[in-house]
Amino acid sequence: MHVIDGVKQLFQSANYNRSTQTDYHRLQVILFIAPIAALVHILLIPFFYFTGVELLAGLNCISVLLWVYGIRLSKQYRIDLAIQIFCCEVLLHSVVVSYYLGPDPGFQYYLWSMSALAVMDTSSSRIRVFITAILLVLVFALLNVGLFEPLFEFPFSEYLLYMKLVNMLVSGMLSILAIMIMRGFHLNQQAELRKLADIDSLTGLYNRRQGGVLLEQAYLQALRKKQQITVVMADIDRFKQINDRYGHAVGDIVLCQIADALKATIRKSDALIRWGGEEFLILLSDASAGDAETLLEKVYPRLEQLYADDEILDSPVTLSFGIAQWSADEPIEQTIMRADNALYVSKQEGRNRITLADGMGCDNPFVNLVQSGK
Ligand code: GH3
Ligand code: MG
Ligand code: MG
Repeated sequence: MHVIDGVKQLFQSANYNRSTQTDYHRLQVILFIAPIAALVHILLIPFFYFTGVELLAGLNCISVLLWVYGIRLSKQYRIDLAIQIFCCEVLLHSVVVSYYLGPDPGFQYYLWSMSALAVMDTSSSRIRVFITAILLVLVFALLNVGLFEPLFEFPFSEYLLYMKLVNMLVSGMLSILAIMIMRGFHLNQQAELRKLADIDSLTGLYNRRQGGVLLEQAYLQALRKKQQITVVMADIDRFKQINDRYGHAVGDIVLCQIADALKATIRKSDALIRWGGEEFLILLSDASAGDAETLLEKVYPRLEQLYADDEILDSPVTLSFGIAQWSADEPIEQTIMRADNALYVSKQEGRNRITLADGMGCDNPFVNLVQSGK
């Protein structure tokens, strides 16, 4: 994998984010409901025509056009305008059908579900959305009580009951669906906020804030279960030079690639945290410093392979590490400090290496144990 592949991946993920931002959820629901609504109106055209209510057949032609136009608008992500058009169509259809046939066929029930859909129009003001929804419910109530005598005597009045039943059930399902969407929005937003609060947007790793929470949890668990914890501080070597030489965008890609390489190296039970700019903290639960060292040695061949014959970078990116094993009588902050000091020794000793902190209270607590052989 080369830096150039990273550039492609970055663009792909940017496109993905753009499509999720444009209300993917609402579009899916509209693309599910609207074709069904258009089809129902198509079927109603011959039905009304052959039962002698030509005007309603004509009205359904207009309805089909409006639903098809709404689908087109939705596909262009003009979802709020599409919802407004659907609301107008249902309002027009229910009023005209009820005016001709009275409330018995039950088309007015769609006004009920449309009031829920109208609330999902996020581009209009709250008061406008509220008034629209109330208006739809008011028209529903007026039509439902049968304020005026139907103009037309429907020839197959025995079927009106079944028609009403179907319309009530379908409109009820639509209301449930609309509320389910709103529930989906709410849960998605909650998850999104949680992600924003816990995850570093560039690398997708835990951010420092969430890292603090994870460290605290691991510390308490280690105390309770009498387990070991080891922390590793990792820092990209001479990263500033990469930025200066190839630009910040390439620097960002390298950061992501290093994050991926570290993630692929550690176990599922470990946590990888972006601790600072080009600095990572690896939290290894139930692992000794020796285990950490064995794990980290696998990073070097991985990085070599990653940057072999790279089209942009002319030398492989390297990392320096500092490892510290937590001892039960020290606060976890102290362990992190020892790992940080060990990392400092790695840098001092020439970078691209692992240093193991020897423990507290030692005159020379840092011993360079492992060299990468470079
Ligand atoms: P050393 O080997 O001693 O660690 O040297 P270094 O150049 O890696 O360290 P230094 O602290 O001098 O520079 C770190 C650089 O990392 C400086 C900063 O601009 C860069 N950096 C921090 N965060 C980001 C980021 O999110 N993206 C990019 N592209 N660069 C970043
Ligand atoms: Mg660095
Ligand atoms: Mg640094």
